Amino acid sequence: MTAALRSTAVATTVACLVVACGCVTTWSRPEGELAAQKPELHAGCSEPVHQPRPEYKTRVTVDQLAEAIRKVAPEYPKTAMEAGIEGMVVVAALVCEHGHVVDTRIVKSIPMLDAAAVAAVQQWTYQPALASRKPVPCWVEAPVMFRLH
Ligand SMILES: [Zn+2]
Repeated sequence: MTAALRSTAVATTVACLVVACGCVTTWSRPEGELAAQKPELHAGCSEPVHQPRPEYKTRVTVDQLAEAIRKVAPEYPKTAMEAGIEGMVVVAALVCEHGHVVDTRIVKSIPMLDAAAVAAVQQWTYQPALASRKPVPCWVEAPVMFRLH
């Protein structure tokens, strides 16, 4: 069992290194500093400089996980409301070192509610994760509840 855990850790480290290398090559012609960067690096955050993002499902060792300090309730889609669809959508959110949600994935899906859940979580504000007392980007899970009554 210990051996299995160890091999998982090794695989994760390798994935991390690959991601770090890939990020260095994202610059193109500098026509105005911000315009030259890949737009998805900045989705949800206006800070111009970011650390390399951990790929989804990559485990990053942190001392403290990112914590939501401001949540925005989702807008209930009318079609889902009429169909009587409710429940919990779990969104994985990449929280950058400034505390903003810069990428998302659906972890637990309710097809008619996923888009509304993601739109809400993108507006959440976080206290960023800390590693060695420094803020770092980190994936966290954000559960979004949809209740009809
Ligand atoms: Zn940021």
